[in-house]
Amino acid sequence: MTVPLDIVLLGPPGAGKGTQAKRIELAHGVPQISTGEVLRGAVASGSRLGERVKPIMERGDLVPDELIVEVIRERLEEPDTRTGFILDGFPRTIPQAEALDEMLVGINRRLAVALEFELDEEEAVLRLAGRAEGETRADDDPEVIQHRFTVWRESTRPLTEYYRERGVLATVDASRSVVEVYAAVEAVLGPVTR
Ligand code: AMP
Repeated sequence: MTVPLDIVLLGPPGAGKGTQAKRIELAHGVPQISTGEVLRGAVASGSRLGERVKPIMERGDLVPDELIVEVIRERLEEPDTRTGFILDGFPRTIPQAEALDEMLVGINRRLAVALEFELDEEEAVLRLAGRAEGETRADDDPEVIQHRFTVWRESTRPLTEYYRERGVLATVDASRSVVEVYAAVEAVLGPVTR
């Protein structure tokens, strides 16, 4: 049996994690799990989870760790994750990363790689501003974008060190075209999928 391909994607908002996750999903047959998409789905359906997270997301804050950890725990129980998963937007805090580690230990698995998409904040902000015209996400308003970066800097960026210390960090330069970035992603994934 081949080893499951368990991947975490890191990088600031606008670094292209979602776009690259979809490509990895297609090429390697492992599901992309985007917590942002799951939560936006919950908001759209008007579920209790959705009602609870809607104001938090509109402000650009993080939803509570316990809540998102439960969402992930349930999602990782789905059979399609047996061959692996691509986590896009999770973990976002050190406690979330620790919870993920525990879950993986529980099912006797370990992360193949934490793939970091490195991009200047200025460039990332420009990309998000561009996205606002096409996709109209409620949290792509300029002030909310600034706040999401503050939250990312304070709560999420420390995950780079967390995964570096565990020896699973790989960094790609995300300032290039989608195709070039994906080539760099494949250069990282090649050795871990062999
Ligand atoms: P994203 O689409 O990944 O930018 O996520 C959109 C919003 O969903 C974030 O700004 C947060 O409010 C919420 N969110 C997504 N993932 C997480 C997470 N792992 N922890 C806390 N909040 C999250």
